[in-house]
Amino acid sequence: MNGPIGVTVLGSTGSIGVSTLDVVQRHPDRFRVAALTAHRNVEGLLQQCLTHRPAFAVMADLAAAARLEDRLRALGEPTEVLAGAAGLRHVAAMAETDYVMAAIVGAAGLLPTLAAARAGKRVLLANKEALVMAGALFVAAVREGGAELLPIDSEHNAIFQCLPVGFDGADAGRSGVRRIVLTGSGGPFRTAALERLPEMTPDQACAHPNWNMGRKISVDSATMMNKGLEVIEAHWLFGVASEQIEVVVHPQSVVHSMVEYEDGSVLAQLGNPDMRTPIAHALAWPRRLASGAAFLDFFQLRPLEFQPPDFNRFPCLRLAFAALAAGGTAPAILNAANEVAVRAFLERKIRFTDIASVVEHVQGQVARRAADTLEWILEDDASARAEADGWIAARALEV
Ligand code: NAD
Ligand code: MG
Repeated sequence: MNGPIGVTVLGSTGSIGVSTLDVVQRHPDRFRVAALTAHRNVEGLLQQCLTHRPAFAVMADLAAAARLEDRLRALGEPTEVLAGAAGLRHVAAMAETDYVMAAIVGAAGLLPTLAAARAGKRVLLANKEALVMAGALFVAAVREGGAELLPIDSEHNAIFQCLPVGFDGADAGRSGVRRIVLTGSGGPFRTAALERLPEMTPDQACAHPNWNMGRKISVDSATMMNKGLEVIEAHWLFGVASEQIEVVVHPQSVVHSMVEYEDGSVLAQLGNPDMRTPIAHALAWPRRLASGAAFLDFFQLRPLEFQPPDFNRFPCLRLAFAALAAGGTAPAILNAANEVAVRAFLERKIRFTDIASVVEHVQGQVARRAADTLEWILEDDASARAEADGWIAARALEV
């Protein structure tokens, strides 16, 4: 490839987006920013445009796009502004883009990430919801488009690093892989009294002990739905059956995940909890690049603990395993119900423990079917959202 690699960051104003730009900025000889995108944070995207001078900036929200356009023109900046879902798909697939960081949160990331896969880009996948919703279609789009799919989720990035090169679940036997061990911190409520969980507030749920992340994934970490989504993500990324994926609670978040082999070897990837490490890994792969993350100080580490997950405390984890076992659109239904429930919890319309109730209710109401077409997936996603909204409207708390 001649000249710096063109990186497009979908969701650049978010936690992963900002960390990505931090890594990219450290290596101006290797990377240039092709496009940046955000939902409706005009001020945030404007500042990023002034710093990174992308060719394109996209705002998913049309009114916000018009405001960004005015601001950039007034400053005499050349960045071209696009709007809406079509704008997102365009920058994900355009010729100026070589690598796409998929860091939009939730189902909104699915279509642009799919567009990047179909266009044969290197896809750095943080947006796990896209893979949970449409795993089979997504993996097929990567294969047919000749794309490279590199996991950004710290666990999956760790597993990728510990698996043999070119691993595919079909080879599990031949390559001697026995189990994938997905670690999770257990979030802020790992040791809270169970009877206090219904009172937990959004701020308490978002106060993660080790990671600083967007609010949706922070709540998912508190319910451990995040780990459930990650089990489904691992199934699609590595082609392994759910029986070969073990969840282990590891409160220190130093071991990011592990692969166990038939001979008894266990390979683990360790590091400080800083997303710049997996981001730099995926940007540089198969080489390595400085990320800005602090190096591990072994003499300062707390003892490393490992515990089995408590499905009673974390019912969302059980619901996610059930959705993976059910297959078809069941994971898309689970994801949609969870997105609606988490938003309602963040808006203080439901209790923390209601999140699992909403998801379980919706799983029982919306019939899954084969996830063969995007249309069916999006229809079932919409039915699940409507069903979740109904549950919430009937029981919403007085606020
Ligand atoms: P965030 O909320 O901080 O940022 C989300 C980004 O997506 C923002 O730029 C926002 O403008 C954009 N966005 C939101 N809704 C949109 C919409 N409807 N249309 C277009 N753009 C939209 O989230 P985050 O913590 O950076 O997480 C992003 C993704 O990465 C999630 O899927 C999350 O699960 C995953 N992830 C995050 C972390 C982490 O450490 N933050 C770790 C692993 C995986
Ligand atoms: Mg993770």
